[in-house]
Amino acid sequence: MHEASLAQAVLERIEEAATTQGAVRVVRIVLEVGELSGVVPEALELALRCLAPGTPAQGAEIVLVRSPARARCAACGERFHPSWLPCACPRCASPAAVLEAGQELLIREVEGE
Ligand SMILES: [Zn+2]
Repeated sequence: MHEASLAQAVLERIEEAATTQGAVRVVRIVLEVGELSGVVPEALELALRCLAPGTPAQGAEIVLVRSPARARCAACGERFHPSWLPCACPRCASPAAVLEAGQELLIREVEGE
């Protein structure tokens, strides 16, 4: 049910964006899902489709873009691609890696008309 509550929040933000644009309906939504966000894109898309009727996003094309994770080692500065969390630096094995990207869920584009 994680995706359902996320979808609800996303739809609210899309509705706000549509209102700001003066759009009556939304034709296209592009969402960016970080690969370590814990969000299953297919589940999120399904939840959005279930909840969209009655909102401006009804019938909109939903595009989900998977964005890669990025981490930087706080000890040696090495940048690398973490495949899980917590991750250790591949160069110095320090566990002090800082995740720079990969946990986000962003609304990249809302195209209204
Ligand atoms: Zn390191």
